[in-house]
Amino acid sequence: MVSGQTQCHLANLNDACQLHADVIAPFRSMQKSAAQQGIDLQVASGFRSYDRQLAIWNAKASGQKPLLDDQGQPVPFEGLSDLEKIYAIMRWSALPGCSRHHWGTDLDAWDASAVSADYQLQLVPEEYQPHGPFYKLACWLDEHAASYGFVRPFAVDKGGVAPEPWHLSYLPLATQFEVYLSSTFVKKILDNAPLVLGDALKNSLDDILERFICPPSQR
Ligand SMILES: [Zn+2]
Repeated sequence: MVSGQTQCHLANLNDACQLHADVIAPFRSMQKSAAQQGIDLQVASGFRSYDRQLAIWNAKASGQKPLLDDQGQPVPFEGLSDLEKIYAIMRWSALPGCSRHHWGTDLDAWDASAVSADYQLQLVPEEYQPHGPFYKLACWLDEHAASYGFVRPFAVDKGGVAPEPWHLSYLPLATQFEVYLSSTFVKKILDNAPLVLGDALKNSLDDILERFICPPSQR
């Protein structure tokens, strides 16, 4: 359940999205309240499985999907050391088994009323900044998300995961999952996963754990 390999803790928010069964009601309350301010709060990504995260990781680690810099712009894959590739991936993508999206407590939020129906959602920081379409949502979340139990674990850049103004975590439940993210847990995942750059990950595991995996809300 913690590593995204089972789905029995989930319920459907809609046809395209699943969340932890106990997160649906608080999310719906928050959504209703946002709607009163003209915000159509929607979820771009809720639960993500281990297999999906593994596919994302391996596509990035093998250069099939672009690595992004702090502004969300592509960086050249060639010329980076294995460790630099890992750091670049982990700015934006979690290690399979360690994504908060596996828990169903975390989601990526956007405002469907702020863009046209054919808008291609990018989930980059500019969309949530003053000139971006989701700035109103970002400000509303700053003020109100906490009263529904939602926090933004990646809101402040501490040099690990990039600031993700769209990423919300239902804290009352997420804290119950966070405690499992120990080095023993991560080592077990690495031993069993067909991960590209797996050896380089194991060699620098302590640093990676501290920078990226140690629960943000406990730092
Ligand atoms: Zn997210």
